[in-house]
Amino acid sequence: MATFKPIVIFVLGGPGAGKGTQCANIVKEFGYVHLSAGDLLREARASGSPDGQLIESYIKEGKIVPVEITIALLRKAMENSGKDKFLIDGFPRNKDNLEGWEREMGDKSIVKFVLFFDCPEETCMERALKRGASSGRTDDNIESFRKRYQTYLTNTVGIIDYYKAKGLVRTISSIPGPEQVFNEVKKLFNDS
Ligand code: UDP
Ligand code: MG
Repeated sequence: MATFKPIVIFVLGGPGAGKGTQCANIVKEFGYVHLSAGDLLREARASGSPDGQLIESYIKEGKIVPVEITIALLRKAMENSGKDKFLIDGFPRNKDNLEGWEREMGDKSIVKFVLFFDCPEETCMERALKRGASSGRTDDNIESFRKRYQTYLTNTVGIIDYYKAKGLVRTISSIPGPEQVFNEVKKLFNDS
């Protein structure tokens, strides 16, 4: 019997590039389930998970939480949703994440493509700091932002390159405002 495999789109880009905003738009118009790895980690921390302190220290330092933790949260959220089309936002961010995904989910899901929001550091920084005024996030400040951006450059860019080599990356500039960016996103989803 052929086993059923959920469809996954990874959504990547620098911190503050607009991944969450565009994922919310995609959910409304195209019926995917949005799973933000960062949101799941923050929820786990808030719910008093035994890993809470470890998660907080990684987030504040802009470091990437060990994949065992992240992937358990993603798997549970996928199973609990009862759905079969997922936007996985902010993951995989490094080699540990990628290897963990391939080990645990490689043959249990289909990665349709990687949606990459391309955005320069200055724009990302402005957005993250603006978000910091209301997000309550402990990493939307200038010190954490710089660490996160550095982590993005040294870890995540290589993951995007890995998927580029497989022909799986769809790049959209997220310099313009959210409506204009979503117009490009819509073209992509309508064609795929
Ligand atoms: N994070 C992580 N693993 C993931 C996703 C997020 O360790 O797979 C942590 C990491 O410390 C990151 C933080 O959560 O800096 C915030 O991630 P989020 O995706 O929420 O940030 P955004 O890119 O939306 O600004
Ligand atoms: Mg986000």
